[in-house]
Amino acid sequence: MKNGWEAVIGLEIHAQLSTESKIFCGCSTRFGDEPNANTCPVCLGLPGSLPVLNWRAVELGARAALALGLRINERSIFARKNYFYPDLPKGYQISQYDRPFSERGELEILTAERDGAGHAREWRLMKIRITRLHLEEDAGKNVHEGLPETDRYSYIDLNRAGTPLAEIVTEPDFRTSWEAYDYVNHVRRALQWVGASDADMEKGNLRCEANVSVRRAGDEKFGTKVELKNLNSVRFMQKAIEFEIERQIEQIERGEGVVQETRLWDERGQRTRPMRSKEEAHDYRYFPEPDLPPLVVSAEFVGRVRAELPELPESRRGRFVEEFGLPFNDAAQLTSERTLADYYERAARTSGNPRGAANWIRSELLRELEATGRRADESPVAPEELGSLVKLIDSGQISGKQGKDVLVEMFRTGKSAAVIVDEQGLAQVSDRGEIERVAGEVIAANPKQLEQYRAGKETLMGFFVGQVMKASGGKANPKLVNEVLRDKLKG
Ligand SMILES: [Zn+2]
Repeated sequence: MKNGWEAVIGLEIHAQLSTESKIFCGCSTRFGDEPNANTCPVCLGLPGSLPVLNWRAVELGARAALALGLRINERSIFARKNYFYPDLPKGYQISQYDRPFSERGELEILTAERDGAGHAREWRLMKIRITRLHLEEDAGKNVHEGLPETDRYSYIDLNRAGTPLAEIVTEPDFRTSWEAYDYVNHVRRALQWVGASDADMEKGNLRCEANVSVRRAGDEKFGTKVELKNLNSVRFMQKAIEFEIERQIEQIERGEGVVQETRLWDERGQRTRPMRSKEEAHDYRYFPEPDLPPLVVSAEFVGRVRAELPELPESRRGRFVEEFGLPFNDAAQLTSERTLADYYERAARTSGNPRGAANWIRSELLRELEATGRRADESPVAPEELGSLVKLIDSGQISGKQGKDVLVEMFRTGKSAAVIVDEQGLAQVSDRGEIERVAGEVIAANPKQLEQYRAGKETLMGFFVGQVMKASGGKANPKLVNEVLRDKLKG
């Protein structure tokens, strides 16, 4: 960012809660069905139909709220947000307004600025205030392509109408596009971690919008904000914010000022462009939904949801550092996904060497997983098997170098480390008596070298080691061979 300027960014995320059915009716939320197959009088907005709250959406909303450090209100109110659009047959969306489901969250995220090549500079912790998380229904979709005569007609698909959403709004706490990027990824991971949402941007079940303004460094007053939409990936969002910051600074420096408006990200042109001027909140004429009672959740309910949550990533990261002695960055990488953290923990326990297991997973296993597009829980190598491999190496039965080949083979065939080591005859000879016997034979067969060694030509050690390794067919444990020879050559 240009010197002397500061950006102020706030984010809104809409995450689809992973329920089987919609929030106010029993229709399926399945993605990709025939248009309008999953509709009924309620989600079609027919007169006289009445909404009934799906309690599963409340549970998943509570999981999401707790995972993001929000406080859940005992009593919240559903409200009608009135606006007209063809994909909204009722003429209003059921949302929440002045009494949201949850409020006042504080989240600690890891963030870093990136260099030109996209590499993180220095990771640091940052606190983000989350204003609220409320529950609402999604609208349907207008379809302008892929159907007959779309040059003359637009179509409406209401399968998505009534799908439960959690809207998550932050305070304007971000100062750079990378902070926003790291936050959205944090939220995505947290929602997936607790099973509240698939949070898959490609399927549109996580969408985000950014409010961006700039001001001169040191100014208290906020500048005019622009709302960015159509951010179809976290990376697009980051690029759009970056572009918008520079655009606004230029506008102001040219004396033209910034217009309050909604702009879209144009990925092809790598720029934002105006969409429409922003509606004010009062345009929506919010009022309490008369067909739904206030949503009341008891402390017991919240306590039960909290008790059912899996250990959260930040807490798990801390535990990996303390309990397993991992460096912070390694622990952060291993808790980037829940399946990976589960995998690591099981491997670490079997191996008896948590740092060793972490290194094998981070360097060798993740490469194999990435190359085959698998998650940790889809690995053909079970975590206990990886732990056993680490054990084989630590006990000197195979070398680290052999271990890498064994792992590739385990990955390919699904066989255990022990079976592969056995089949390929890789096991190192770590039997001291056996190595002493072979070393004795080698020394006896090379009296001249022995004499020279004892006369001070210690470089001959390498010769003897080589001979013993050769006599053992390369299987003797090199460390043990060195020990035994040093003893024996002394005489
Ligand atoms: Zn329905």
